[in-house]
Amino acid sequence: MKAKFILNFKPDMVDKPLTYLLIKEYDIKINILRGIITPGKEGRLLIEMIADDDAIEKGLEFLRNENVEVIPLQKKISLREDECVHCGACISVCPSGALEMNRENWMLVFTPEQCVACGLCKSACPLRLFKLDFAE
Ligand code: SF4
Ligand code: SF4
Repeated sequence: MKAKFILNFKPDMVDKPLTYLLIKEYDIKINILRGIITPGKEGRLLIEMIADDDAIEKGLEFLRNENVEVIPLQKKISLREDECVHCGACISVCPSGALEMNRENWMLVFTPEQCVACGLCKSACPLRLFKLDFAE
């Protein structure tokens, strides 16, 4: 099984070798797709886990016991682009780079291929233009 997750963890967890422990203790192959860690603040990792279902389940249980918020990415996001006012509020929360500002015309650029469907842009948009659906 191959699955992507967003991990949100508290400042005191930033120094813990969570991904190392997942690899060593649970035999899960981990690809870190993106990491946002600010000293003294919360950390966020976008990871892909590759292992059998049982190992991934145990790994997720371990993370939850360590007070890590685990968000599975099994959905897809859609955006009503024609109503966008290009305020940029969604860009700073996007962990994957799917939302960017075109610096020539200051208009939002959405690249669905890079989206990991974390849903963070949904609440960030003041006009509520994002919709999260289950992927087919
Ligand atoms: S759901 Fe929104 S915030 Fe999350 S990766 Fe996709 S575009 Fe970015
Ligand atoms: S937050 Fe909403 S209105 Fe603002 S740039 Fe993003 S999609 Fe457009």
